[in-house]
Amino acid sequence: MASTVETLSNFIDGESAAGAGESEAVLNPATGEEIARASQSSAEDVDRAVGAARRAFDGWSNTTPAQRSQALLALADLIEEHGDELARIEALNAGKPIEAAKNDEIPVMADNLRFFAGAARCLEGRAAGEYMEGYTSFTRREAVGVIGQVTPWNYPLMMAVWKIGPALAAGNTIVLKPAETTPMSTVRFAELAADILPKGVFNVVTGPGNPTGQALITHPEVDMVSLTGSVDTGKHIARTAADSLKRVHLELGGKAPVVVFDDVSMEAAMETIAGTGYYNAGQDCTAATRVLAASGVYDDVVAGLAAQAKGLVIGDTLSPETTLGPVNSARQRERVSGFLERRPDHAEIVTGGSEPERPGFFLEPTVVAGLKQDDEMIQREIFGPVITVQQFSDEEQAIAWANATRYGLASSVWTRDVGRALRVSKALRFGCVWINDHIPLVSEMPHGGFKDSGYGKDLSMYSLEDYTVVKHVMANIQ
Ligand code: NAP
Ligand code: MG
Repeated sequence: MASTVETLSNFIDGESAAGAGESEAVLNPATGEEIARASQSSAEDVDRAVGAARRAFDGWSNTTPAQRSQALLALADLIEEHGDELARIEALNAGKPIEAAKNDEIPVMADNLRFFAGAARCLEGRAAGEYMEGYTSFTRREAVGVIGQVTPWNYPLMMAVWKIGPALAAGNTIVLKPAETTPMSTVRFAELAADILPKGVFNVVTGPGNPTGQALITHPEVDMVSLTGSVDTGKHIARTAADSLKRVHLELGGKAPVVVFDDVSMEAAMETIAGTGYYNAGQDCTAATRVLAASGVYDDVVAGLAAQAKGLVIGDTLSPETTLGPVNSARQRERVSGFLERRPDHAEIVTGGSEPERPGFFLEPTVVAGLKQDDEMIQREIFGPVITVQQFSDEEQAIAWANATRYGLASSVWTRDVGRALRVSKALRFGCVWINDHIPLVSEMPHGGFKDSGYGKDLSMYSLEDYTVVKHVMANIQ
């Protein structure tokens, strides 16, 4: 059993290091089988990793932007060179259809690292000058220090890369804790990156939120904590960080409204909305899973989404035919099924709703219609292959309902009326609004939430700035 599978090591100070804690099983969510074991790293393991990052900080933060840029370009090449291997790990450990991991995620990671390689060399300040007679002032943007990064299980390596790129570009060093169910790709990336990064610059400790994550976010030598995960964990981290005034950067999921007016080209819209609602089995903080349809097209939207759902193929994540993988864990499937079991009487499961008879943590792609604004399925993040549909009567109601959840990460509006598209995109209280599309992201533009979806931006120059501190230098020149 345990002896036949690999036990993952932590990666600390440039080398693999066995964690001190008991090891726990890492599963393939498509089969439920154990495929590796990982240490539940202890506070001592975390302390060693933070110590290594601290020792590496002086050297790394004093490299030139050009040197950091070279390292990030090399990391991007590495991701591409090992793209097949890394995609296969994500397919096996995170339940992703292999083609999606290979063709969507690997190129995005490489592009992201290349963007930050360029951005590292482009940080600018406002003008330096003489703001008081006899003095010259200028600002410096400096690295924050040691960053504790905590990643989720939905895009294990991609979310790690989104955090690593800007942090390293700005000259910080890192200790990263992957989600306990999906540590494999991040550990492998750290091993591969050892040829490129000086030792101690990037460290990985495996283990659960508690004790491993908790030890990281409370460590006195960690200067900033960055999380992608749930609202509850984000609030816990912000509260905990307050004790030592660590900086906090939080990307906490969403409940994206997809507002469909009655003038859209229905077929193309349904294909994109279902495609991005069921992508990654709906485990995406921006997933197009909360559809609000105008009365005139409501029936067509419900039928169109159900037809799309029926076209998805559940199966082996290594098969190129598979278009819908499992959810991440037995616990996550229970959580998603719980929403369906607790549905109100007025809700209608149009298609799906069950757990298919096969091993692994699969769920049928599901459409639930007839829901009302206060229903649990509208208000809370489901994070599974479930698209809900509500019917609205006019633009004002659509905007009010779209905004009336605690989340504020992403949204979309679908209409051919340019004035309406711009009015609605202004009124939506979300960090991102797509017009006639959903989910495409680019490295140059910011991604991050309003409201309970957190604060701090991923991607873009804004993210690079989030990983820096501003210093004023004022010289007496008389
Ligand atoms: P979570 O607990 O917030 O997990 C995110 C990360 O935080 C994991 O690495 C987790 O470790 C870690 N963590 C948990 N408690 C911690 C602590 N006290 N200190 C430091 N790190 C800690 O999220 P989840 O329970 O896996 O998923 C629940 C819900 O979160 C999902 O259904 C979804 O709504 C949301 N979510 C959002 C995103 C997103 O992209 N924004 C991603 C994943 C989940 P463990 O792995 O041990 O839990
Ligand atoms: Mg958790």
